Amino acid sequence: MFDKYIESENLNLVEEKFLQLCLKTFDLILQNETFKSFAEVESMNEKPSIFFDDFTIVDFWNMPHDALGFQAVCSPKYDEDNDEDYLEIADKNMAVINIKGNVSSIKDIYDICEPEISILSALVTIPHEMIHVLQWIKETKGKTPIEMFDSSSKGELVFDDIFNNIEKKEKSFTLPSSENRKFANSEDFAENTGRKIIDQIEDKICSSSEYLSFVESFNLSLKTKVKLR
Ligand SMILES: [Zn+2]
Repeated sequence: MFDKYIESENLNLVEEKFLQLCLKTFDLILQNETFKSFAEVESMNEKPSIFFDDFTIVDFWNMPHDALGFQAVCSPKYDEDNDEDYLEIADKNMAVINIKGNVSSIKDIYDICEPEISILSALVTIPHEMIHVLQWIKETKGKTPIEMFDSSSKGELVFDDIFNNIEKKEKSFTLPSSENRKFANSEDFAENTGRKIIDQIEDKICSSSEYLSFVESFNLSLKTKVKLR
């Protein structure tokens, strides 16, 4: 369940430590019962993928640098050689975790809440995005975005249909949400389930050497910055 890929060339030391904490958390998620029960899927052509990324994949999919994570499906692109627009469509079911974006998000709230809370809420990104990919797999019977696109005559509208169906399915699980949030139900489900999983493995995360090592280097980087000013 979930092949893991790492793009880490452009990470600094603190981000590298956060990557190690993410990988530890990812292993704990795979053993978590709440996750396992949601991850039971009948059919799958190939394993989904999770990318821990240093902006390489974020840039490839034209996502903003402050996106914490995303499920890669499709993105409009421009081909400079042939001067034409085209649609890049994922040939894998894939979740992307933006390591640099998450470290920035921790920095943003580190002072205003408990350090532990800011780190754990960044780590929720991992199960959150994995759940989105599993929602897709359940809806498409394991097909990838490119497979869904090729087997439909609707073009990229096929993706809207899939996300709308997921949205309808998740309705029964979640609290009533504001009407104008188009994907409020699937978002709430991914976020609430992600939080529940992280809550359940919180003790294991916070007592891990990866967590302690990240906190140490993160605090050191904060101190260094203050000195430089
Ligand atoms: Zn989401």
